Amino acid sequence: MTLTITEEPAPADYERLVFAEDPDTGLAAYICIHSTICGPAAGGCRMWSYDTREEARADVLRLAKGMTAKNAVAGLGLGGGKSVIIGNAQRDKTEPLLRSFGRAVNDLNGEYYTAEDVGISPEDMRIVAEETQYAVGLDHGEHGSGDPSPFTAEGVFQCLKVGAEEVFGTSDLADRRVLVQGLGHVGMSLAEKLHQAGATLIVSDINAAALDRARTTLGAEICAVDKVIDVPMDIFAPCALGGILTSETAGKISARLICGAANNQLADDGVAQILRARDIRYLPDYVVNAGGIISVASEIHHAGKAYRDARLNEVATRIREILDLSNQTGKSTTQVADEIVRDILARGEADQRELTA
Ligand code: NAD
Repeated sequence: MTLTITEEPAPADYERLVFAEDPDTGLAAYICIHSTICGPAAGGCRMWSYDTREEARADVLRLAKGMTAKNAVAGLGLGGGKSVIIGNAQRDKTEPLLRSFGRAVNDLNGEYYTAEDVGISPEDMRIVAEETQYAVGLDHGEHGSGDPSPFTAEGVFQCLKVGAEEVFGTSDLADRRVLVQGLGHVGMSLAEKLHQAGATLIVSDINAAALDRARTTLGAEICAVDKVIDVPMDIFAPCALGGILTSETAGKISARLICGAANNQLADDGVAQILRARDIRYLPDYVVNAGGIISVASEIHHAGKAYRDARLNEVATRIREILDLSNQTGKSTTQVADEIVRDILARGEADQRELTA
């Protein structure tokens, strides 16, 4: 066995960063634990063809920190972590590589729970789980919670209705023009819900088959990938990859509400201010897209469906509270959500200090 796990220096506010490598299986992966203040770290594993190791490192750091925020706001008793496997999921993903990754996760002794993310399916997790008890999002076993995506889509849909009520004065989506960017596991499920709710769908994806399905089964209008920001719309639902909202795109998008599943939708902190100045309501991604990790948490805690459904319903309630606080204080929704996270972490740290005193 040639798996090596090397500790790497992490930025000051991170707990741990390791690089796992196995020349026999081709594994090259980062696992990052940002915070265990609220509990063991949990966050999916992404397989992506990063151009450089540095790019993968930057991604895992950003994503792990996002998981701390997401898990804290959702009240899951979990910290934030993430892993990224460097490689092309279509070409490089093999059973030995996944097993090697599972052994790397196991080496962290439960400090980190892994699950599916972009490029990793429930079938892949089944293999990883044969090497470690810290793999979740499983579609088998007594506590298996299955694919988290439908729960993510449901949470996004509920939040979108709360946002519509805030912006348009009604949660009725009939004839609202909603653009869904990315018709993957979450985006397609969200598009189906929007269609059922009577929304006029506009969709964009790089995958022609997904576009075709949305056009024929949901009557969706298709938008070219490089035109998503230019099309007239009421609501924008980013469900592809992060960083779609930059100073430039935020300055010209016609939507009055933004609510989608993609992680890290805002390219930088300044974008939230631009959106607010233009009176566009942005619902913070890490609050809105927590449905998947809520489902996974029910598996980690062996807590079942009732726990999952109760927490899932709270996602939209939390968005309502964030909108109210934003209205009362004049702060952007992102600022309000970030402050909630900081308070939760500060309280968690104080509790830990008390316990160890
Ligand atoms: P996915 O890989 O199944 O789907 C992503 C889709 O985006 C694919 O159909 C892909 O072709 C499309 N896409 C890629 N680049 C595009 C582009 N430039 N323009 C338009 N479409 C493009 O992923 P997913 O599981 O549906 O997740 C979608 C997003 O939501 C990701 O950012 C993910 O991190 C985030 N998210 C997912 C979950 C979950 O439960 N799956 C939970 C929280 C957050």
